[in-house]
Amino acid sequence: MSQQPHYRGRFAPSPTGPLHFGSMVAAVGSYLQARQQRGSWGVRIEDLDPPREVPGAASSILHTLERFGLYWDDEVVYQSQRSEAYIAALERLSAEGVVYPCGCTRREITERGTVGRYGPIYQGICRQGLSKHKQPRTLRVLTHDAPIRFNDALLGKFEQRIEKEVGDFVVRRADRLFAYQLAVVVDDAEQRISEVVRGADLFDNTPRQIHLQRLLNVPTPRYAHLPVAVTADGQKLSKQTGAAGIHEQRPQMVLIQVLRFLNQQPPAELVDAELDALLRLAIEHWRLEQVPREKRAAPLIQA
Ligand code: GLU
Repeated sequence: MSQQPHYRGRFAPSPTGPLHFGSMVAAVGSYLQARQQRGSWGVRIEDLDPPREVPGAASSILHTLERFGLYWDDEVVYQSQRSEAYIAALERLSAEGVVYPCGCTRREITERGTVGRYGPIYQGICRQGLSKHKQPRTLRVLTHDAPIRFNDALLGKFEQRIEKEVGDFVVRRADRLFAYQLAVVVDDAEQRISEVVRGADLFDNTPRQIHLQRLLNVPTPRYAHLPVAVTADGQKLSKQTGAAGIHEQRPQMVLIQVLRFLNQQPPAELVDAELDALLRLAIEHWRLEQVPREKRAAPLIQA
């Protein structure tokens, strides 16, 4: 009988466009880290936000992963089909008395609050109840000022005082959609993810997620945040900064570029290797500790 693998990793793309170099870094990094531990690796499509979704992007992402030999275990999870679980989590938070309706618009928050390192800080305006002229818009979770600490496998120790630095944050949006912070916590827990390997753009979201994990009484996974791929002038690669979809005709070439980006030093000859041989070597030689800590420019010629 096979044993249940202890390590469980995941890749959780939002289907806002085809995979670009930056998202490929998260896919490959999380895959190699999971496979080296002989763990499982799942894919979760974070299609929580229909207005931002690009039709066909989810299947294009899955197709690209297959083209690159990055096969996942278990069935792909689609967040759009998980509303019941998110509602159950909100009910639980509500029963604990740790969420409240907020009637503030973004503009009010910006006008009344200060802007901190992580954006406008919500000052708890509706904490004591909605004032008469306000309609409920969002649901926010209560935060506190004790520091939330974690030790990232790559970026080291970090702490955040959420109440002071971010404020009570949204778990259900004004358009009734579930907030990313809530969905990611519910799903990582349900999928029993033991380590989250993802881009460092989400590093400072982690304390908010840990806060929710504690309120929902679910375990906190380990975290490793990979360097963000930026353009030559330092902007995060995204569709908006013109990141091209990756070159599917030459997966070996792209994989080697991703491995170099992650400082894994694959020999150049591997470009002529079979794809599965290349992946096998990449798994064998994967060293998380060699991954650079700073953001890096993506290769100019993305194959
Ligand atoms: N869906 C998020 C993104 O594509 C990633 C979420 C995560 O890995 O926690 O940026």
